[in-house]
Amino acid sequence: MQYIFLSHDVDWRRQGPSIEHILSRKDRFDVKLFEKTKPEDLYRNIPEYMELEEKFGIRSTFFFRTFYENGDVLDYEDDIKQLHESNWEIGLHTDPTSVDNLEKIQKEKEKLESITGKQIIGNRVHYLNYNSGLPEKLTKLGFSYDSSLRYSKDRIDDKEMGYSRINGVIEFPVTLMDAYLFTYMKIQEDKIISEFQKTLDLGRSLAENNVISVLWHDNVLKMKGGRMYKQILEFLTSQDDVEIKRGADLVKIFS
Ligand SMILES: [Zn+2]
Repeated sequence: MQYIFLSHDVDWRRQGPSIEHILSRKDRFDVKLFEKTKPEDLYRNIPEYMELEEKFGIRSTFFFRTFYENGDVLDYEDDIKQLHESNWEIGLHTDPTSVDNLEKIQKEKEKLESITGKQIIGNRVHYLNYNSGLPEKLTKLGFSYDSSLRYSKDRIDDKEMGYSRINGVIEFPVTLMDAYLFTYMKIQEDKIISEFQKTLDLGRSLAENNVISVLWHDNVLKMKGGRMYKQILEFLTSQDDVEIKRGADLVKIFS
């Protein structure tokens, strides 16, 4: 089986970036869509992701930060509760300034847990700011898995998929990420599905049971490139040997 670990990082505060930020990136959007969408809705797509994934009968993991520039994770309280109650997984999107400090990670974890009322077992560091001391800290804090590791930015090889056990946590390297595909790998929108196909074929050649971790940021769904998400789900769900999972499900499978 080729397992897809499907996840979304929620990088921006709920009301989105400043108008200046959005205007300077106007060309990332279709003109008509840009004009008819309220600025605060251009980067926020949690309801759209839920609707799409529900349609395909799948669930994913959303990683939330607890620090937002000019915002607060509590602004997302209703979204987090709704996701959690409808069986999406909530993971911690740890701040890069917390990774070297056990107490800081603990505080972030507890803040998020106070919203869901359930233990958080998954972690991903914002900007994939992984370091070798992180797994041990995560284990001490009761996390089961991490997905912050990525070796290169411009290619996908056998190191960027699968899973490994590192100091007590299962590590799922990020295999396919929106930003790397469009910037470092320069994949055009109409080549995205073939890139997924290529990655799946590599996975099939490596292991009978393999994990491909897909990171599609919350803010990209309406953008060029990011808007291919529905086609990606169509493609993945059409493959007989592919199952789409949350991180928490994979931990159960591989423990
Ligand atoms: Zn992030």
